[in-house]
Formats: sequence, structure tokens, C-alpha cells
Amino acid sequence: MAADLEAEVQAIDKNLLECSAEEIAVKWLQANDLQKEVYQHLAYYVPKIYCRGPNPAPQREDMLAQHVLLGPMEWYLCGEDPAFGFPKLEQANKPSHLCGRVFKVGEPTYSCRDCAVDPTCVLCMECFLGSIHREHRYRMTTSGGGGFCDCGDTEAWKEGPYCQKHELNTSETAEEEDPLVHLPEDMVARAYNIFAITFKYAVDILTWEKENELPGLEMIEKSDTYYCMLFNDEVHTYEQVIYTLQKAVNCTQKEAIGFATTVDRDGRRSVRYGDFQYCDQAKSVIVRNTSRQTKPLKVQVMHSSIVAHQSFGLKLLTWLGSVIGYSDGLRRILCQVGLQEGPDGENSSLVDKLMLYDSKLWKGARNVYHQLFMSSLLMDLKYKKLFAIRFARNYERLQSDFMKDDHDREFSIADLSIQIFTVPSLARMLITEENLMTTIIKTFMDHLRHRDIQGRFQFERYTALQAFKFRRVQSLILDLKYVLISKPTEWSDDLRCKFLEGFDAFLELLKCMQGMDPITRQVGQHIEMEPEWEAAFTLQMKLTLVISMMQDWCALDEKVMIEAYKKCLTVLMQCHSGFTDGEQPIVLSMCGHSVETIRYCVSQEKVSIHLPVSRLLAGLHVLLSKTEVAYKFPELLPLSELSPPMLIEHPLRCLVLCAQVHAGMWRRNGFSLVNQIYYYHNVKCRREMFDKDIVMLQTGVSMMDPNHFLMIMLSRFELYQIFSTPDYGKRFSTENTNKDVVQQNNTLIEEMLYLIIMIVGERFSPGIGQVNATDEIKREIIHQLSIRPMAHSELVKALPEDENRETGMESVIEEVACFKKPGLTGRGLYELKPECAKNFNLYFYHFSRAEQSKAEEAQRKLKRQNREDTALPPPALPPFCPLFASLVNILQSDVMLCIMGTILQWAVEHNGYAWSESMLQRVLHLIGMALQEEKQHLENLSEENVVTFTFTQKISKPGEAPSNSPSILAMLETLQNAPHLEVHKDMIRWILKTFNTIKKLRESSSSSPVVETEGNIMEESSRDKDKAERKRKAEIARLRREKIMAQMSEMQRHFINENKELFQQTLEELDTSTSGVHENSPVISDAKLTALGPEQTRVAEPRQVVMCILCQEEQEVKVDSRAMVLAAFIQRSTVLSKNRNKITPDPDTEKYDPLFMHPDLSCGTHTGSCGHIMHAHCWQRYFDAVQAKEQRRQQRLRVHTSYDVENGEFLCPLCECLSNTVIPLLPPPRVLFNRLDFSSQPNLTQWIKTVSQQVKALHLLRNEDCASHSGHSEKMDQLQLPEGFRPDFKLKNPYSESIKEMLTTFGTATYKVGLKVHPNEEDPRVPIMCWGSCAYTIQTIERILADEDKPLFGHLPCRQDDCLTSLTRFAAAHWTVSSLSAVQGHFCTLLASLVPNEKNGNLPCILDIDMFHLLVSLVLSFPAIHCQDFSGVSLGTGDLHLFHLVTMAHIIQILLTSSTEENGMDQENTNSEEEVAVLTLYKFLCQCTGSALKEISSGWHLWRNLKAGIMPFLRCSALFFHYLNGVPAPSEIQVNGANQFEHLCSYLSLPNNLTCLFQENSEILNPLIESWCNNNEVKRYLEGKRHAISYARESNKLIDLPDDYSCLINQASNFSCPKSGGDKSRAPTLCLVCGTMLCSQSYCCQTELEGEDVGACTAHTYTCGSGVGIFLRVRECQVLFLAGKTKGCFYPPPYLDDYGETDQGLRRGNPLHLCKERFKKIQKLWQQHSITEEIGHAQEANQTLVGIDWQHL
Ligand SMILES: [Zn+2]
Ligand SMILES: [Zn+2]
Ligand SMILES: [Zn+2]
Ligand SMILES: [Zn+2]
Ligand SMILES: [Zn+2]
Ligand SMILES: [Zn+2]
Ligand SMILES: [Zn+2]
Repeated sequence: MAADLEAEVQAIDKNLLECSAEEIAVKWLQANDLQKEVYQHLAYYVPKIYCRGPNPAPQREDMLAQHVLLGPMEWYLCGEDPAFGFPKLEQANKPSHLCGRVFKVGEPTYSCRDCAVDPTCVLCMECFLGSIHREHRYRMTTSGGGGFCDCGDTEAWKEGPYCQKHELNTSETAEEEDPLVHLPEDMVARAYNIFAITFKYAVDILTWEKENELPGLEMIEKSDTYYCMLFNDEVHTYEQVIYTLQKAVNCTQKEAIGFATTVDRDGRRSVRYGDFQYCDQAKSVIVRNTSRQTKPLKVQVMHSSIVAHQSFGLKLLTWLGSVIGYSDGLRRILCQVGLQEGPDGENSSLVDKLMLYDSKLWKGARNVYHQLFMSSLLMDLKYKKLFAIRFARNYERLQSDFMKDDHDREFSIADLSIQIFTVPSLARMLITEENLMTTIIKTFMDHLRHRDIQGRFQFERYTALQAFKFRRVQSLILDLKYVLISKPTEWSDDLRCKFLEGFDAFLELLKCMQGMDPITRQVGQHIEMEPEWEAAFTLQMKLTLVISMMQDWCALDEKVMIEAYKKCLTVLMQCHSGFTDGEQPIVLSMCGHSVETIRYCVSQEKVSIHLPVSRLLAGLHVLLSKTEVAYKFPELLPLSELSPPMLIEHPLRCLVLCAQVHAGMWRRNGFSLVNQIYYYHNVKCRREMFDKDIVMLQTGVSMMDPNHFLMIMLSRFELYQIFSTPDYGKRFSTENTNKDVVQQNNTLIEEMLYLIIMIVGERFSPGIGQVNATDEIKREIIHQLSIRPMAHSELVKALPEDENRETGMESVIEEVACFKKPGLTGRGLYELKPECAKNFNLYFYHFSRAEQSKAEEAQRKLKRQNREDTALPPPALPPFCPLFASLVNILQSDVMLCIMGTILQWAVEHNGYAWSESMLQRVLHLIGMALQEEKQHLENLSEENVVTFTFTQKISKPGEAPSNSPSILAMLETLQNAPHLEVHKDMIRWILKTFNTIKKLRESSSSSPVVETEGNIMEESSRDKDKAERKRKAEIARLRREKIMAQMSEMQRHFINENKELFQQTLEELDTSTSGVHENSPVISDAKLTALGPEQTRVAEPRQVVMCILCQEEQEVKVDSRAMVLAAFIQRSTVLSKNRNKITPDPDTEKYDPLFMHPDLSCGTHTGSCGHIMHAHCWQRYFDAVQAKEQRRQQRLRVHTSYDVENGEFLCPLCECLSNTVIPLLPPPRVLFNRLDFSSQPNLTQWIKTVSQQVKALHLLRNEDCASHSGHSEKMDQLQLPEGFRPDFKLKNPYSESIKEMLTTFGTATYKVGLKVHPNEEDPRVPIMCWGSCAYTIQTIERILADEDKPLFGHLPCRQDDCLTSLTRFAAAHWTVSSLSAVQGHFCTLLASLVPNEKNGNLPCILDIDMFHLLVSLVLSFPAIHCQDFSGVSLGTGDLHLFHLVTMAHIIQILLTSSTEENGMDQENTNSEEEVAVLTLYKFLCQCTGSALKEISSGWHLWRNLKAGIMPFLRCSALFFHYLNGVPAPSEIQVNGANQFEHLCSYLSLPNNLTCLFQENSEILNPLIESWCNNNEVKRYLEGKRHAISYARESNKLIDLPDDYSCLINQASNFSCPKSGGDKSRAPTLCLVCGTMLCSQSYCCQTELEGEDVGACTAHTYTCGSGVGIFLRVRECQVLFLAGKTKGCFYPPPYLDDYGETDQGLRRGNPLHLCKERFKKIQKLWQQHSITEEIGHAQEANQTLVGIDWQHL
């Protein structure tokens, strides 16, 4: 079947290819009815090209379509071969000065914060880099796709609208020129024709709804071929779709994933092809399977020819888009065609048709035509305007469609509003001509239908679906914001009129919000269900900016302003026309004043937090106060219509509500109220909520008698009784009052005083006080920084943003703060400048309670540090604007003085809990404010003004009869000495001082001297201060002690609970370090130190006593005692790898032999340790307990831990470092196997001969063993055993049982982890892995030291030093617990790689052996042979010869691979001994290789190369022998000095001239060298047929990162998923080790790993980092650490903004630059193999990290 189809397809293709585009075009040119001709052509050919089978074949389809369908159209259009026609057009075209680049998903975009008209104006990277804005303050974001570059749009930029590239195109453009004049007339006509036909065809077919016929096209052959088409929705998840498809169309999971991915991307995909019934069946299964969810997946069975025409329709739209790219003229023609009204009148143009059908189209189709709109209509200024009008007229319809549409807004045509409404001229035009503001607001109101009986919005319970719908509705607010974002510079009458019309609509909207969600205090029972509140607040939050912008617009024109003010007032009166209804009027009177008001209790009646109309009016009032009229002719303003008591009523109720909530009176109303109060004050809302309520009260007070205001206020606070009744306060002294009520009243009094402080003190908004906008911001910043120094982003968060997302902070921050740069961690901080501290106001109205007390503490501390008194008096304030000027009188009003007096009286009487210190503190603050006010008045006294503010006089007067209370001043003087008011003394003293100053000021005007009293006060005060200070210190110390005690007991409890089984005895002093052990190592100063060989310096190993961290017992490390162990972590590592693509054979299935390490070091085994010591048995018990606990935990609930117990992982009980095994501590092992060296020691030649004989003997014996068990073979007799060699000798293992057990444990663990196999202690590869791990770990440490330019010895951290000692000693002792013959076998094979024998063929050539690994394995396996050698040769001799042999092999290796460029460097003219010798050796090598080796004549270069190449090996060897034999390092290599090479050679018992080794042993070496060079692989290398590693190997580093982060974003945006054909990756992730970009966290790139589906990152770690990976998630700007499949954590990225902060998630968009130090830190973590450990610590600290499915990333 498939083959048939294939053949058929090919036959058709052939036919089709014979069509001639030119001929068809000629036919069309002559046609009378062109549309008919073209339609016939399409009807015939389209179904032959598209949709020929179950799967789309895009390449074939495109090719054929171009040839048969588009080709003729292009010929027709050009009237000639398009290959000539189009370039001609392009040449004649004047390039556009608009960039218009449409953004891809994830592409970086830039907006200039200084010049962009609004934040939606963006540039593409290319334009940005060529613009002036790169020197400005800019913001960078990644595009969500869609939208285009605004370069060249003069309306988008205040300055620099063109980049360099697009500036060129502006020079001679006559703006209004008609682009059609550049086109020949006949072409214009043809373009009209063909565009009209093709555009109409595409629109018709895309909007076609019938299933079995075509628009205007005949169905040529109606076959029974259908598609079952699955459509995308945003309701069903990937998993649901995949699962359903597998069931419905019987496909594999892979196919299903493919379908789902395409459906998600394109919006639809056929999932089955065949006859109708076959497809219909699949459809019903899909529908049935998904109908249980909210709604079934959309599936449609479609005839193949319809699908074919639709595919071509889309192709045509894309084609149109590319054709108009050749010429502005063609673009204009297409625009004309698109907007031409059709026969059906309104809305019948093609563009209208598409727009109105938008919500019914699938995603892919939408994208295509949106793109076409953007490149045509939006790029042509004339048609952009016409299109904008069409868009505005259809606005309501489009929005309604969008509400029902289940696609995200970015896929909806409604989203184009951002492109249209943000163009200021268009927005203005649409407002005046299309009444757009009103349209948007009305549309919005239409979608919020639910109202209560008063006509206010009422929201249902806020379900997910509700939230979804509601979010859509909110996008309308966004549109309103776009329309308002650029403010008019001049007003026409039309604009005024239409704006005010819009304002009316807006007021209607606010009216529906005024008083919504009213609440009533719950008494008795707690509320049963939390009432809905979120929706209302969301609405308020979204509208906040719009409300502010409305006010900004009004402020621009006085006429509009006054009109708007009147309208707002009218609406407010409508809202509260009946605010007194039902309420009885009452009369309040105090201190000889009386006022009429209503009886209303917040605590008993309904109250609402939502008062947007009142608040808008308050805002307008402030703006009005700024106008010139307000200064000069306030009588012209509509102020007389205001009724102050009506204005203040509702805001006051709202503030009283807050006070009562704070006093705990609304506890039973639940969290919803608490949340509402929170948001009411929150920075996101407060500007149009809380702040405006304060303004409204200020407005009210300034227009009424302050005594009246205060009485009403007392009454609303339900405190009137207390203050109006003399001696009412005394009721508290009687015992039968309810304590709670008293407490409540106290809080209410405090809150009320606070409110008065705010009303008088908050005058930093322009219009209220005489300040400008920057003063306001400065004050906000000062108060934030008074709490503590803050990072830039913290400050930004604390300040309100305007519609351009600006806080205005940058312009003023320098004046009030200093910036402190960050270190390696943390972030940069702003600190308050000391001179700004005087502006601190303790009762700043934007402080939360917590902030207030922190700020108070911080400021007092500061004052103490500066040795000042700790009073925090109110700061001097700017004067009020005239409209608010009378407000200050509230401070000296009779009622106020009465309140102050009453409270001071309570304080003097000091009776129990009837008053509070905060109450007093606030009264003192108010008195302070009044004094400041009076002082300022006096200082600014001008001739004609009389000071009417006489607070000082009033407080000096005693109360009148009958109460006869003392004056306020007198009471203050009394309180000054009250012992219970220690804390307030400084403040009272400040008040009295200021009082005196004012008195002096007053008297100075009447020129009488003042008696100086300050001296006394000062003296007394310093004594008091001392005392107070001491008391405070004692108190602080006590508190700290208590806190520490509490912490400690908490920790202990926790610890004991966690480890109950283990710690029943003691728990003291857990921390002991092992470092003490090494302190008393012997110092051998003068003698020459030698690390190995017969000459080795003998050192007496000190007694080593260590303490177990678990049982605290001390023990000596001895061969025969109980084992002590170090917690250790073994991991596979590719950190040193020079070949990351190498695939190592699976050690389980193939018999993988790790005996030789390849010099590419592609995968090694690293061992690390935290250095903490335990008894082996203590550790065993601990580990068992951990295991048992884990099992219990897993049974209870499936919790993950940061460690994998099943894999032997645990956390070090002391430092919680991740570990997976333990290393035993051992005494130096070599001493145990050393025998007397009685005979003279052989030289290298002799020694090799002897050992070779021994090896041969062993081989024979081995063969003997296998060959026959029965009978003696004659070979045995032939065998001449070398002298003193006793192969039958069995060494007695010197170690205690417990140590032996630990040797096996660690060995097996190394084997298991290193080879990723199941543990098997018998496997002969176990010892190999142990030696390998020892060698590899030493190599990594040598590299780290070299990279950091640290000396080899003396600079390792203790834990690494301990680890290397134990690891080396362990590796040297491990052979004692493995099979002797296996180890002997390993030795033989290893030796054979250098000293060939006939038994071991097929070994790697010397180019393919890492010599240090070879050295370690040889030296550590040698004792297995040596122990049977009784000839008197010492072990040291063997070590030395082995070392020399390997060194020589390494020299040959280096010389063979050396790539010396002779002329690369200046040669020094020396002819040293070394140079001559190495040249000789090199010549000998040339001989051996048959002159295949490149000729080098410079001994100087060779010697330099050799020295550099061998250095790492020598350094590693020095470390190795140092740890093996315990010989201290000479002091010269403990520092970075000269002659390191010579000192190393001496320590290693090597001649300084290394080539001497060859000369001394030439007898045996020459044949060896020849044999090495004769190897086939070496020959192939020399012939250039293969590669080899050359020396010295360079250290691996993480990849280089660009300085500018946007380069990475750009790189990532160009990256497409490697598996789903050109699709943009959603989470592009960069491997920092090898630089590969990956498509992470996505189905498309999941692969199977060990039977589990894993994401691209996890899969990559297995090839690139043997399980460990370091990535940069580019879109998130986040570093990701991964280890294994289950472990991972995020790490701060090494990119910082100018404020020293990272931006994880790229939320702030500040430009980011690479911080090299932080990147180095990450690199170091990697080089030190600490990534896994880092993850462990991160997961322990943050449990949520444990639950993440890291393997899916
Ligand atoms: Zn651009
Ligand atoms: Zn540009
Ligand atoms: Zn700029
Ligand atoms: Zn112990
Ligand atoms: Zn530890
Ligand atoms: Zn990689
Ligand atoms: Zn992918």
C-alpha cells in the first residue's frame, strides 16, 4: 500500500513538473475572466500537490507549489521572469526607514528608559546596538514572540528614533509621497488583479465552514479521503492529549508526542488519514475520552481537498507577505485590496473578514495572517490609520470573541491593540473620531454584568474558571492604559469633549465599585466562609494606573480639570445622596464647641474599603490646588458645592476600620479582611486607596472647623465618650472594667493619634505641600533606608511604579544614599547618607508596623553610636499649599489640646493599664510637630503677617475651672522626672528645649533676653544617659543570653530526636577536627629530602591519635586496632576529560578492562572527603540507623531526601556533607612490607631482567595451574626460579579484621561507583579502580593548585590533605585483601606495556597510556610480587626503578607528540648540557621511527618543551610519593620560588638533566625505545592517520561567557530544538562545561536513559559530565546544577546588573554583565568536584528543591 502510494505520487510529481509557469502566466494575461482562470487552475492542481497522504511532506509540497502554483503568479505579476522582475522591483524601491523586524520567541528586545515614549516601544538587538540608547538607561527583555521593532517610528521615541542603519533611509524621504509612483502602470494593474484574487481565495478558504464543498471552486475528483483533524486548546494538558491519542488512533507514544507537539505549535494536526468512517471513528473515541474533563478536545473530520486548499491558502498569505517585501508600492496595493469594502458593505473587506473570524481559526493560521498584517497594514503609515479605524470599530466584537476564545491573548487579533493604541497620534485620532475611550470602558462594563441591588459590582466565588475569564476582561484595562499612556501636549475642543465623555464612562465604572464588597463586623461566632475579596482587589489593582493616568490627563488642561472635578463631585453625591438616611442626627459638644453629625458605628454597620470615586475626587482636589486658579481665584472653583462632612465620612470609616482591625475587634471576620487591609496599604494599591483617603481627610479638615472635625473623628473611633466626659478615664481604676475593652480602647486612641499625625504631617505630594515630585520620592527612599541598607531591587519594590514602570528613583538616589558594592556573594546596597537622618519621621505613613519598629530601633542605635540623645523628634516640614493651609490649626484647636491634656494627665497619674506608652509617645510627637510648626512660622515671619499659630501660649495656660487641671507644659515638666518614663525622657527634654527656643524667638521680637537654662539640663541629662545606657546594655545582654539558650535547647532537642538510637549517652562538644593530628609531624630541616628509593629519607611516623565524632572516644591508628574511617564521597568525573564524546563500553555487558587509563582522561573516579573521623563500627551503626529511618519514612509518606540511601549515600553526621562510603585510616603501609635490604641493590637493567624472570615464572606457574590438575608437566621442572623468589609464599595479612573489612568496603564502593556496576568484591577490577581513583584524585588536585598558581605543598586544606593521605595509604594496602594472583597478573600486564614479553600481546601503545596512572598502578601492585622475593632487594629499589622507567616512557611520549614550532619563540643562545642531550635523544628517536618524526634541530626548544610537558607528571608523582612514604616536602617546594623543577627532581631522586636516565641505562633502554616506536599505532600517528594527546595537557575550564548577557539571549533565540525541525526551544539551556545548547524541559527532547524518560539536560550530563552537569538556563538567567537523575539545585548566575544584583528569571530587565569572580567561583566548584556536595547542601537547606523532578529538565 505504502509503496503503491509512493509510486503514484512520483508519477503525479512528474506530470506536475512539466507544467510551465510562463505558459500559464501568458494564458492568464490574455484571459477575460482572470479569477475564473486562476480558480480553475487552483481547483485542479492544489489537491494534487497538498495532502497526498497521512503525513505532511512540507518540502515536496513547497517545491511543487512554487513550481505549479506560485510560479505562474509571479510571472504574471512581473510580466517577465520573476528572477529578473523581483530584483528590479527591489532596486527601484526606497528602503523603508522603519525596521519592523518581527520578534521570534525568546529574542532579546531593548527599551530605552530615557527616550521610549512608553515601555512597549522596543528595539531589536541590531537596531539597539546601532542606536544612541545603548549609552542610556535601558531595559532588556525577551520577547514572547509577535510584536516588532519600533526603530524608525518617530512617535515611539522622544530622542534618537533611528539607528545608524535606518537613519540612512530617512534622508530624502518625502513623507507623504505615494509609493505607487515608482511602479509602472501596467504592473500596478496586474498587482491589483492577482492580489485581489489570491487574497480573496485565501480568506474564503480559511473562513470556509462547509465540510463538503469549496468556495467558488469545483471539486474535480471527489475521492473518499478524509483527515481526522485534532485542534489545540489551552484546557487539556500535554499528557492528556498524548494519552488519548495513543488510545484513539493506536499510535506509539513517540508518535503521540509528535502529534501533540505539532498541535500545540500549529494549532491543529491530522491524526488519521483514510475514508470517512475510519476518521470518524477516531474522532468519536477522542471526544468520548476527553469529554469527562471540562470540555472535549476539538476534532473535525475534513475532506482532504479542503485541507489541501487551506494549506495552500496559508502558503499564499506567506507568499503575499514576501512579495510585498520587494516594494513599498506592492505593499500599498495589498493594503488597498485588503481594506476595500466588498459588496456586502460594512465589515465586508477581506481584512475585516479575517479579523472577525479570528477566534475560530487555528493557531497556525492566525499566526500567518497576523504576520501578514504586521508586514503590510502596520508598515504603511497611511493604511495603518485606516486599519486602526477598522480595528476600533470592530473593537467590541473582537473583544467578545476573545472572551470566548480559549487561546491565549498572544494568539488573538485583539492583541494587536498594543501595536495600534500605543501610537500617540493614532490613539488621539481614535479617541476623537471613534470615541475609543468610551468604547473600551463600555465594552469592559458589559463583560462585568453581575451587580447587587445598588448597582455595584458583585463577584461570584473566585474559581479557576472565573479567574480565567476575569483575566481576559482585564486585558481591556490594559487597552485603556495603552490609549492613555501618551498624554496630549495640546487639546482640541473635540479631544476635550471626547475625553470628558470617556471620563463620564469611567466614572460610571468607578460608581459600580464605590462601596462594593461591604463587610459587617462579625460578633460572637467566627465567619463560616471567607467572603470573596480577591476579584474586587484585582480590579482595583489593575485600575490603579488608569486612575492615576486619568488624573494626569485632567491636570494638563484647566478646563478639563474643572469639568472633571464637577463631574466627579456629582457622581460622588449620587453615590452618597442618602448617606444620612435612616441615621438619626446627633449633636456632639466638647470644650465649648458643638457639631451636628449622624449616629454611625463602624463596628456595627456595613463598611466598604472600595471608595474609588471619593479617592478620584481627592486626587483631583490636590491637582486643583496646584493650578493657578487655586492660588489666585479660588472662588472660581466649585468648592462651595462641597460638603466637608460628606467628603470625609467614608474615607474616615475606612480608616477607622483599619484601626479596629488592628485593635483586634474584627478577629472573627477571618483572613479575607486581613488581606484586604494589607493590600489597602500595599505599595501596589496605596496610591489610589490609603494615600487618597488621607488626602480626603486633609481636604475636609482644611475646609471645616478643626474642633468639629476632631469631634466627628472621636465619634467614629467610638472614643467620644472617653474624651468628652471629664474624669471618664478614672473608670479604669475601678477593678470591674473589662480588661479587653480597655486594651481595645487604648489601641484605638493610639491609632487615632497616629491618624492625626498623618493628616498634619503628610504633605509631600505636590499640591498638598509646597514640594515637587522629587521631594516625594526622596522622602520615600529616606524612610526605606532608615530601616536598613537596601539593594536596588528592594527599593524598587518598595516604591510605587508609574505607567512606564518607573519609580523615579535613579534621579534622586545619589542625593540621599551611598552605594556599596557587593563582594563574591550578596548584592550591592544603598546606605542612607548621615545628613538625611534628620528627615526621619517615626510616624511615616507608609511604614508597616514591623518596619516602623525596625526603623525606630535602627535610628536610635545610630544616634547612640553618634553619642547623641536618642529622641526622634518630628522633622521640620514643608509649608502647606494655600488650599490646605488652614489644616495646621488642628494642632492648636481646643479639642486637640484637650485630648493631649487628658492623655498627659493619665500618664502623670500612671494608674495601671488605663493608658499606654505608645499613646504618650504619639502625644509627645504631636506636641513636637506643633512646636516645629510654630518655630517655622516665627522664622519665616514677614512684616505684614501676624503669627496666628500660638501653640506655646496655649500649652502654658492651665485648665479652667472646674477641672483646674495643670497646663500641658507643667505636666511635661512633671513627667520629665517620672521614673517610669525613662525611654521618653530624651523626647520630653527636646520638647522643653524647643519650647524655650520658641519663647526666645518670640521674646527677641520684643527684645527681652531669655534666661539660659540649657546648661543644667545638659549636665543632668548626661548623667541620666549613662545610667540608661548601662541599663539598656544589661537588658540587651540578658535578652541575647536567653535567645542563645533557647536556640541551643531547640537544636539539641532536634538533634536528639533525629538520632535517638545513637545518642543516648552524651551530647557535648561535638566538634573535633582531625587537623590536630598533623601538628607534630617531624621537622627535618637541613638534610636533603628524598621521597622514594633506597635513599629515601627515613621519618619516624608519629603516633596518631584521633577522636571519633560519634562516640567522642580517642583511639590510636594502628595496624591491629579497630578501624577508624573518614566519611568519603566517590564520584565519576569528566572534569579532566580531553574527549567528551568518547563512549565507554558498558562495563557490565562487555568485559571492560580499566587497567590502562587513556591519556584523554575521559572518565576518572574522584574521591573526596570532609575529613571527619569515626570508628568503623560507630559509622556502621549510624548508617544502619539512617537506613532504618529512611525505610520508615518512605512507608509513611513518599518523601525524597537529598541523599539516596539505597545507593549507600548518607550525610556526614557532623557537617552534613554528602558521602557514599568511608575510607579507613591507616599507618604508612610500606613499612609493613619492607624487608632487610642486605644485598647490594641492582641497577635498572639488572632489576628489569630479574623482574622479567619473575614475571615469566609466574606466567608458567599460572599456565600450569590451568592446564592440568593431574600429573606433573615437564615445564615445571624446566622452570628456573630466579634467586630468592618463592612464588608459593603466602604473606600473612598484618591488618586487624575490622581494618580488612573496611579495606574491602571502600574498595568495593570505588569499583561500584567508578564502573557503575553492582558491587562484587571478588572482581579482579576492584584493585585497579582503587589505584585509578588514587591517581585521578591526585591529578585533579595538582591541576587545581597549578591553576591557582599555588605551590605544590603546604596549601591544601586540611580535609584534602587528610583525604589524600588516607586514599593513598588505602590504595597501597588494598592488595592485601584482594586475590594475590590477580594483582600479580595486573602487575605483569602493566609492566608488559613498557617491557614487552611474549605473553602479553595487544597492549595499548605508549601514546595511549596515561603515565601517571600507570606509575601509580605499577608501584601499588608491585608489593604483590615483591613479597615473594627474598633476594634482599628492597621495595624502595623497585619503586625507584619503576618510577624511572615510567618517567622515561613519558619523556619519549612527550617527544613523540611534541608539536614544537621552532620559530615560534626567540631562542636563547645557550648550548647547555641538557639541550645537547635531549637533541641526541631526539635524533635517536628519529632513527627508531624511520625518520617519520618531524626534524627538530633546536635543543633549546626541545628541552623547554620537555620540561613543560613533564612538569605535571613530576608534580603528581611528588604528591603521590609524599603521601605514600610520608617524607615531608622540602621547604623550597612549599613556596612559589625559582628552580622548582630542580627541587622536584631532587625530591624525586631524579637527575636534573632527565636525559641522563637514558644515558645511564642505554643498554636496556635502546631496545625498549625501539620496541615502543615500532608499534603500529605510533606509526599511524606519525603518518598523521590518527590523533594523540600532546603534553602538557591544558587544564579544563568552563566555557567562555560573553560579558553582555543579551549576547546569550540572542544566541539562545537563534537556537531551535534539534528534534522538532526548526521549532524554537522553550527553555534553551547552555552546558557550561562543553558549550552545547540544549532544548530542556520539553517533551520533544526527552530521551530514554536506563529505562526512564529524561530531559535533554539530564541526558546530556551522562555523556558530558558522567552524571554531573552545570548549565545556564538562558531565559531564566539561572545556573542549574544536576547530579544523577534525582539531584539538582539552582545557583545564582554569574551575571550582575549595575547595582550588583543578579536577576534570576530576568524580571527586572536591567542590563547584565558577567562577574568574572563569581564565574570563577562556579568553575572552582566544578574543578573541586563539589557540585554534588553543593546540591546536597542546597537541598538540605531548602526542602522544596527535593521535590522537583530534576530528571525532566
Ligand atoms: Zn530593528
Ligand atoms: Zn534600526
Ligand atoms: Zn535613549
Ligand atoms: Zn566511635
Ligand atoms: Zn563531615
Ligand atoms: Zn556539555
Ligand atoms: Zn526539543
